[in-house]
Order: sequence, then structure tokens, then C-alpha cells
Amino acid sequence: MAAKIIDGKAVAADVRARVAKEVEGLTGELGRPPGLATVLVGDDPASAIYVRRKREACEEVGIASHHHEPPGDVSQEDLLALVEELNANEEVDGILCQLPLPDHLDADAIVNALDPGKDVDGLTPISAGRLARNEPGLVPCTPLGVMELLASAGVDPSGKEAVIVGRSNLVGKPLYSLLLGANATVTTCHSRTADLGEVCRRAEILVAAAGKPRLVTGEMIRPGAIVIDVGTNRLEEGLVGDVDFEAAKEVAGAITPVPGGVGPMTIAMLLANTVQAARG
Ligand code: NAD
Repeated sequence: MAAKIIDGKAVAADVRARVAKEVEGLTGELGRPPGLATVLVGDDPASAIYVRRKREACEEVGIASHHHEPPGDVSQEDLLALVEELNANEEVDGILCQLPLPDHLDADAIVNALDPGKDVDGLTPISAGRLARNEPGLVPCTPLGVMELLASAGVDPSGKEAVIVGRSNLVGKPLYSLLLGANATVTTCHSRTADLGEVCRRAEILVAAAGKPRLVTGEMIRPGAIVIDVGTNRLEEGLVGDVDFEAAKEVAGAITPVPGGVGPMTIAMLLANTVQAARG
């Protein structure tokens, strides 16, 4: 039987509608709209598009967007000063510094300078530590979106075998903590995992976040598994995930497409995180 297709666009629209309502209430409470500061450095065209989309999404739900575009050759010192200024700005609830930064900048030092209360990307060591300890805090948007998709599909991870392919600080590791926090039995695979197929076939919940087109084949999927494809690989034929979708949908119980799966969730969860940060 063909898998149920999990519609990320629809779930993201629900999240945005929920956020818009919360923003309305919060604007009354605070006497101002919640604010998200975006910082874009350099001339990476993909980064410029991502930041523009994030700002537009803010406007749609009533979040004030404070945009900063320092020159591409900005010094580490000046960028740190901007972060400090935004940390202190009471109208700014969340700060997003679009990565990657140009090579002459130390991205870790910039991220570490963010006020953890405004760290809407969940990338500071404080946020990562809180998540690892299952304490309240801001969580990276993409893994948070994966959890929202699972919930929307009626999947309770408790007691289930979950396998994540990828161990990045942005996706794989925070997702490990989230799934563990939801009481799944979690295995994380990476580029040195000896037999990827054998581990993936154990998964009742399988999340692919490796950045390798169609790495996960149909044979690697346990019949009936819930498959979430985080991968976004730009090939000549178009945007392709880390899962061989055509083969996988014949085996899985439910699956996210690429595009239209995890992608739309990331910005929606950024908006949700900004509201969370504004609540303090
Ligand atoms: P990354 O390059 O930082 O990490 C990739 C991980 O995959 C590494 O831990 C690596 O060990 C593992 N890996 C690589 N090759 C492997 C293999 N052959 N077998 C097993 N593991 C392997 O990437 P990332 O930032 O975590 O992103 C992963 C993918 O998710 C990328 O395609 C990225 O574009 C996509 N992504 C999408 C969104 C979204 O909003 N849809 C957000 C973030 C990332």
C-alpha cells in the first residue's frame, strides 16, 4: 500500500495561523509587536533569499522585522558590537544571524555572543545544553519542525525505534535530544556508520538529514515506517531529498515529500520560536 504523504505546507500553514493569533494577543500585552532581528552578511544569494523569506513570513503574522545588513568585509569586532546592540534592544525578542558567514569571521564566536533568551535558531551552547538536559529553552527550527510533522501525522514517538541519519549540530543532534525527550529509542547514524541499511531497517521513525541525494533507498525502509526527509539537494533535475521518494513511498507508512515536507516547517517554527522568546 502506498504511503500517506505528510503535507508540510499544510502543517506549516496551521502553525503560522496559530502564531498569528498568539502575536495578536502578545502585541496587546507587550504594547508592541514581538520583534525578530535578521543579520545578513556577505553576498551569498541563497542566504539573501532565505532572509527575505523569513522577513516576509514575519510580516504576514505581525512580527516586527528589524533587518541589518552590515558590509561583507565587516570586522569581527563590529559584528560582535551589532550582536551586543541587538541583545540590549528591548524591541528585539529574537536574533537570527544567517549562516554561513564569510570566511574571515568566526561564526562560533558570533553565535556564542547571542543572548540565549533571543537565540531563536537554538544554536548557542546554552540552548544546546538545555535541550540535551530536556530543560525548557529555544530549539533549532528544523528539528522542531520534524517533531511538529510527526505530531500532525498522529505519531507518538514514545517506545518507538527512531533512527536519524546525520549528526550535525543544526539537525541531527538536536533531533536526537527531542526524540529521546519524547521517549523514543534513538540511534544516530553518520558518515562512518558501518551498515547504514541495517540500522535504518530497524526504524519505525526514520529521519534522513545527511545532505546526500537519495542516500536512503527503498530497501533501507522498514515496512510501515514514518519517513521524514530533511535533505534538500539542488540537482539539475530540481530539488531532491535524501530519500529515494518513489521507492520509499511504496514501503513506508507515511513520508514527507521534497519539496513541500520539512522545508516549509523551518520558517514556521522560527516564527513560533520568536513568540516563545517574546514571552520570555
Ligand atoms: P551537515 O552536512 O552539517 O551534516 C550532514 C550529516 O550527515 C553529517 O553528520 C554526516 O556524518 C552525515 N552523513 C553524510 N554522509 C553520510 C552517509 N553517506 N551516511 C550516513 N551519514 C552521512 O548537514 P545538515 O546541516 O545537518 O543538513 C542536512 C541536510 O538537511 C542538507 O541537505 C541540508 O540542506 C538539509 N537541511 C534542510 C533544512 C530545511 O529547512 N529543509 C534545514 C537544514 C538542513
